[in-house]
Amino acid sequence: MTTQSRSLRLADTLSRAPFAWPSGYPLHAITSDGACLCRHCCASERLCIATTTGSDGWNVIALAVNWEDPELFCDHCSDRIESAYAEA
Ligand SMILES: [Zn+2]
Repeated sequence: MTTQSRSLRLADTLSRAPFAWPSGYPLHAITSDGACLCRHCCASERLCIATTTGSDGWNVIALAVNWEDPELFCDHCSDRIESAYAEA
């Protein structure tokens, strides 16, 4: 599988199913440069993700749950990334 197709597959998975199953925890995407992307950006920036060079910041390498970081923001749109446990 190429970098682009893996990156796109993860982004599409997140767009379709933004919550981990069966726990229901909200997911976000991690890029190869360690940035976070929210599910909205995975949908709106799909073309960038599908054509990533692998090192341009659009290479999605994993989906992850934000367990309890209230200060986690999407590196593209700056929206807060929902955490699994409500803020204290
Ligand atoms: Zn975003």
